[in-house]
Amino acid sequence: MSNIVGIDLGTTFSSLAMLNAIGKPEIVPNTDGDRLTPSAIFFDEDDGGVIRVGVEALNSRHLNAARSVRWVKRHMGDPDYKVSIDGKDWTPTELSALVLKKLRQDSAAQAGEIRDAVISVPAHFDEIRRKATMDAGTAAGLNVIGIVNEPVAAALCYATTRDVSGRVLVYDLGGGTFDVTLMEVKGLDMEIICSQGDHALGGIDFDKTVLEILQKMYQDKFGAELIATEEDRAKYEDEAEDIKKTLSRRPVAKTMLYGPSGSMRAEVSREMFEQGVTPLVSRADMLVEVVLDEAGLKPSDVNTVLLVGGSTRMPLVRTHLESIFGFPPECSINVDECVALGAALHAGITKLREDPDHVAAGVREGLKDISLTDVCNHSYGTICAPIDKETGRRVIQNRIILKKNTPLPCEVSQTFYTVSEGQKRVEVTITQGEDVDPAFVNRIATHSLELPPDRPAERPINVTYSYDLNQRMHCAFQDVESGRLLELDFSLDENGEKETTQEEKATAHLEPFKVQ
Ligand code: ADP
Ligand code: MG
Repeated sequence: MSNIVGIDLGTTFSSLAMLNAIGKPEIVPNTDGDRLTPSAIFFDEDDGGVIRVGVEALNSRHLNAARSVRWVKRHMGDPDYKVSIDGKDWTPTELSALVLKKLRQDSAAQAGEIRDAVISVPAHFDEIRRKATMDAGTAAGLNVIGIVNEPVAAALCYATTRDVSGRVLVYDLGGGTFDVTLMEVKGLDMEIICSQGDHALGGIDFDKTVLEILQKMYQDKFGAELIATEEDRAKYEDEAEDIKKTLSRRPVAKTMLYGPSGSMRAEVSREMFEQGVTPLVSRADMLVEVVLDEAGLKPSDVNTVLLVGGSTRMPLVRTHLESIFGFPPECSINVDECVALGAALHAGITKLREDPDHVAAGVREGLKDISLTDVCNHSYGTICAPIDKETGRRVIQNRIILKKNTPLPCEVSQTFYTVSEGQKRVEVTITQGEDVDPAFVNRIATHSLELPPDRPAERPINVTYSYDLNQRMHCAFQDVESGRLLELDFSLDENGEKETTQEEKATAHLEPFKVQ
């Protein structure tokens, strides 16, 4: 029986949890004995070009900022983001694979080889970013059996440790992303109602506010810039983060600033900090409002607010949420570890469903009462050209096929019609987004379906989108008369084989790189 693991591949910190003999998830510490591994990479020039991942990488970035990488998750799936090191361009998927490889290696050293894993992603990640995350896992030598939404993982962990029922709002403020998700929980039965996220809002933005306060203090005293080099910036970013964390415990944080014009003592109060971060808290509030609006609920309809992510340790977050909801948020679970623990539970449930013979009896018993209903996180549609009733002209439109927040697994079909006589092909586009106007949705794939020759117009084409429990989407476009079929799957090809994408081909070369 192989080990079953869940991985929280975080913007700032990552961690890995494994199911024990009775199906309870446990964090596997890294080789330094730490339960969290910084998602930081440093390409060492010395030591045979070894790639350092984790705390050593984080500390080494002061030595050479140009060879250090952090916050990769913010760029996941972005084809334009590359980090050039010694003539090689590293993609976000490859960089994430290095972090995953480190987690895999370290846990193998402590708890035996691992293969099957579920990796968590923010609920608002689109298909491209989910696929990029899965590719990173594959490139790191893992068999990615599923992807789980981080708030679902957190709620899973929470619901298996205490009695919960009612509407749970998961408020996840991490280092680089913010997610808010509303769920209906009845014991171990949980259903996501809706979810929203901002992938450019997290702890680092609060650090920036502190950095701005320090810069201003220096400017006011010396009339000069505090930060002269990239190395200075890295140092003061760390300082700003420390001050922020201190302010979570104490009303004032003190530090020394050593700028080019002289040194000074600086004192930052919690009040100054909280004033500075008001716009960030308002951005988070807006998403909470959107989620409640989508669900047609008021704050008083929510029974529990569950905190996830290191940044929810800020007292401001807690008091602010209490003022919105009228009761204090729930913070009894470990805000840093609950996502990895829940991802391991999710991996167990997935393995039990798909390959029960390879799940140990104790694990099976431990998981048997958990049931989970997840939803589709986005609306998916296609571009079509219906006739406008008023003008009689064709208009190009995005038509939604699979609606956001539909419970999984789901399958929906719609029929479209060819436009012209003798039409040889239809361009099929898969979109993601809510708008009717194609300019305001993402086109996640475009292909062409060849049609039989010499036919009149208005021939039916059936379009079927389905979304499975592992967060994978399948799309089928079928010409009804000829039966010709075009199938697109975001992780499997038509033969059911795992498709080798360009990204995976590239990441196959990662094996020779030594990660430590
Ligand atoms: P991610 O999911 O993005 O990897 P985490 O949930 O691990 O992030 O949270 C990391 C963030 O939490 C960092 O920005 C860190 O500064 C912040 N953080 C951790 N502890 C505290 C604290 N005591 N007070 C304020 N922020 C904190
Ligand atoms: Mg996180």
